[in-house]
Amino acid sequence: MDKTLPSFAMSKDQMIEYGYKVVDAIAEHFDRMDEKNPVASGTREEMDELFAESIPEGSLPPEQVLDFVLKKVMPNSTNVSHPKSFAFVPGPSNFIGAMGDALASGFNIFSGGWVASPGAAELEIVTITWLLKMFGFPVKKGGGIFTSGGSMANLTAIATARSIKCGDDFSKAIIYMSDQAHSSNIKAIRTLGFSKAQVRIIPSDQEYKFGVSKLKNAIAKDRIQGFFPFCLIATAGTTNTGTVDPLSDLASICKQEGLWFHIDAAYGGAAILSANGKELLKGIKKADSLTVDPHKWFFQPYEIGCLLVRNHTWLKNTFTEKPEYLRDIEGNTSEINFYDHGVELTRRFRALKFYMSVKTFGLHTFKNAIDYNMKLAEEVEVLLRNSSHWEIISPATLAVINFRFNPFQLDLEEEKLDALNQYISQKVVDTKEALLVTTVLNKQVVLRMCLINPRTTMEHIQDTLKLCETFAGEYLNKTQTSS
Ligand SMILES: *Cc1c(COP(=O)(O)O)cnc(C)c1O
Repeated sequence: MDKTLPSFAMSKDQMIEYGYKVVDAIAEHFDRMDEKNPVASGTREEMDELFAESIPEGSLPPEQVLDFVLKKVMPNSTNVSHPKSFAFVPGPSNFIGAMGDALASGFNIFSGGWVASPGAAELEIVTITWLLKMFGFPVKKGGGIFTSGGSMANLTAIATARSIKCGDDFSKAIIYMSDQAHSSNIKAIRTLGFSKAQVRIIPSDQEYKFGVSKLKNAIAKDRIQGFFPFCLIATAGTTNTGTVDPLSDLASICKQEGLWFHIDAAYGGAAILSANGKELLKGIKKADSLTVDPHKWFFQPYEIGCLLVRNHTWLKNTFTEKPEYLRDIEGNTSEINFYDHGVELTRRFRALKFYMSVKTFGLHTFKNAIDYNMKLAEEVEVLLRNSSHWEIISPATLAVINFRFNPFQLDLEEEKLDALNQYISQKVVDTKEALLVTTVLNKQVVLRMCLINPRTTMEHIQDTLKLCETFAGEYLNKTQTSS
């Protein structure tokens, strides 16, 4: 009886033809990015209408599925690499990185242990070492791991800090961070089983920096009450304003008090490659652990985050388990099994895209891009300062700037300014031409631009500001006639 085996096989010609179509679509995405809109929106009902179906029992021609995905799925997702995608922290990405990911998936490299993939493990060691050196961490003693993103890097850091500083009993342990720290830190702390009462949120100062004297008081008070202060989380490049906490001061406090010093530099860390950024990030090398996200300002496609530590044994001591089924693949200690250095066993080959993009473009291209982004944000600040209807709320820092429409001749009340700027953002997003959203600083609704995309030009920004001004005029006309 000749029964065909169940199979996903395709002929080589079929794969090539299909693959070309995928590559064509990606190349076109990068090449004609400017001609499309960055914003996608859709309700659950609309998306259900497009996609909801029960699991298909039969097969379809491959091209039919691909066409459907390219026509329907991709346009219904925000284009975070678009030059007018200013919101949150954009993902500028790069083509070589995307192809690196395609190879990692295509060859389905298992990046968990040395024995399975010495090439992949070595590339992770090599690229982590580049980063250790870049941030002034000890290269021999230090270590790190690529994660899915900044959230997982922060979780890995806090788990490590706890295991090294507290051992098994963390019932009295206290962790400190400012009110500008990224939400992923709180999420990590909750996930790790700390109670809310074990977290101290220290108010930031007028410049949104960690309030150092308030921190000292809090630590002293906790000690008197019999708690165990063990970890401090600083931010280098807050998501709201790009602010860098006073890293050197915080490092001294941590040293004095015996606290673990974690720095979350998920988006801002890359600025170490620019002269200005290096100055702003002074003290970053004093961290015990450091989060940086290559999928933000190192221009990699999702997902790749990274955690660096001063001492690589900390990771191993925290995460190693020795189950019987892994005993044959231990290897020697210089041959790192990354499953021993973090939460994941099966891991995709994240180092590859980073390695390939740095090798292809050279570090100087990354430096130039980051320099360009920092300067662009400063130019935007000058432009806004020279206009009588824009107000700077927080100055250009690590390529982030906050501002609001506030024509000083009109002397508008705070409440109306909030509504006006909310309206501007909503209307701009409705056009889908630019993704510009608000944040709240000092109880004021403000517009925020994160300019880490090297494709963004002054013209893109001027177009967007013009759009804002049109909607501002519209709002002011409307509210004047109706009141
Ligand atoms: C983006 C960001 C994070 C979260 O990183 P993900 O990669 O989105 O998980 C954490 N901290 C800071 C400061 C960030 O900017």
